[in-house]
Amino acid sequence: MDLATILLVLANVGNFSMGLLVYLRNKKATANFLFGILAFVIVLWGIAMIIFRGYIFFGISDPLILSKILFSVASLPVFFLFLFAFIFPEESSRKPHWITISLAVIGLLTIIFAIMATDLIIRNVEMQITKNHRIIFGDWYFIYLFYVMVYIGAAIINMFLNTKKLFGIQKKQLFYFFIGVLISASISLFFNLILPIFKIYEYQWFGQVSTLIMLGFMTYAIMKLHLLRVKIVTAEFFTFIMWVFILIRFLTTTTNQERILNGGFLVFITVFGLLLIRSVIKEVRAREEIEELATKLEFANLRLKQLDEAKSDFLSIASHQLRTPLTAIKGYASMILEGSYGKISETTKSAVDKIFQSSQRLVLIIGDFLDISHIEQGTMQYDFAALDVKELAKGLTDEFKATIESSTDKSKALKISFEADEKENFSVNADRNKIRQVVSNLIDNSIKYTPAGFVKVSLSKIAENGNVLLKIEDSGIGISAETMPNLFKKFGRARSLSSAYANGSGLGLYVAKEIIKAHKGKIWAESEGEGKGSRFFVELKAT
Ligand code: ADP
Repeated sequence: MDLATILLVLANVGNFSMGLLVYLRNKKATANFLFGILAFVIVLWGIAMIIFRGYIFFGISDPLILSKILFSVASLPVFFLFLFAFIFPEESSRKPHWITISLAVIGLLTIIFAIMATDLIIRNVEMQITKNHRIIFGDWYFIYLFYVMVYIGAAIINMFLNTKKLFGIQKKQLFYFFIGVLISASISLFFNLILPIFKIYEYQWFGQVSTLIMLGFMTYAIMKLHLLRVKIVTAEFFTFIMWVFILIRFLTTTTNQERILNGGFLVFITVFGLLLIRSVIKEVRAREEIEELATKLEFANLRLKQLDEAKSDFLSIASHQLRTPLTAIKGYASMILEGSYGKISETTKSAVDKIFQSSQRLVLIIGDFLDISHIEQGTMQYDFAALDVKELAKGLTDEFKATIESSTDKSKALKISFEADEKENFSVNADRNKIRQVVSNLIDNSIKYTPAGFVKVSLSKIAENGNVLLKIEDSGIGISAETMPNLFKKFGRARSLSSAYANGSGLGLYVAKEIIKAHKGKIWAESEGEGKGSRFFVELKAT
């Protein structure tokens, strides 16, 4: 066998496998079926070339007829490529009009008739020992060239136009097709049809071998979308080949001993082949399910994100709407308490005081809601400036002390104190209002969660880095080890909190943490356990 024959055989085996692979992947799809046919007629074309060169064909030994068969068969891939370009990819295809198909079929039949029945296309063949037989073309050979160029040209133009309509993977797929056809068609046209005009016959089998490039590109493009399915088909394909191979061995053995051996082997391979295919199918199914789940999850995630955004929007709008009436309630309660509407009895005063305190609390909670929606939407604004933490903390402590002392509720015996080094400088770069909010929240919590005893606010400097450390210590209900990790999370509240502390939202510490984070500081809590008091710390970078 010469090199050309070997390459032709290889190309045929390759093309046949690819055609089968693509067809088996999806037997119901028209595009896959047409691809299978295309691959099949390309294989026929390759075989026709081998026969023509080797000059062996049962019964027929007339080289002229063999060359005519070769050229007739060569017109088939051209025709099917033309059809295929319309069908692939199926979703985008404008189905060819029946007139187009009819004309294409008439063109094909005419050209085959002209080749086989007349000497207009091929007139004679001069045999060569080199197997590169010389085909003498007829006067109307250009009609054949014209046929090939029009059909392939139409296919290429159609693909090119389709590429423009597609996007994503399909666009890429069609692009591979386009390149494959272009390369292969150019090679075939040049070496098989044009060079022979100039009496160069050595390369007239290049076209057949080059189809390997085209089908390779196409197979890759088709499989690219569903790589998993290919695994099943490949496993089936190789197992099948193995079965055929062993079956042939079994049937061709002569001695009994060998027959028994091969028979046993056949049974063994059949069983294990089936098991192999089953396991591959199972694995592929599982992976496909995972892929499907992943897509669903992605979708659910997206939906959750949208819901989360909607929630933030809602919080922000609702809070703004609640604020205005609340300001009025608080304002009027305060005016009544101050006696702007005349003298009121002690019982009325205590009732209005409760209205005032509750609305005050509500204002804070709504403030937290607003802060959270700002934090989550990333629109929290900070005005950094020099801030004296000592002045701020002392002022706040005094305010709380005054509120407790003036409160009508005398059941709480609480001592509030403030302590800081007189000589130290506690200046930091921070947003005054936000830090005030944090510290106020911490002191408020300590008072809220301490039925009796003390709340100590103190300021110090950390020796290693000079940072300002604010500590709020109380002798209150303490924090259990179970609550601790959730303390600074959204809605993180101690589960065991009795109804006496029902008016908390569990948002204050979360907001505080976000604010301190924006200041590049630290906030944390310590407690020996329930009933053993708590310590809250805020560390701020010194300027
Ligand atoms: P709220 O106080 O509105 O519930 P916070 O975010 O301010 O929300 O506090 C979250 C939780 O942390 C509280 O519900 C409480 O369980 C716990 N906590 C906060 N401060 C203290 C404290 N000083 N002592 C004991 N527990 C506290």
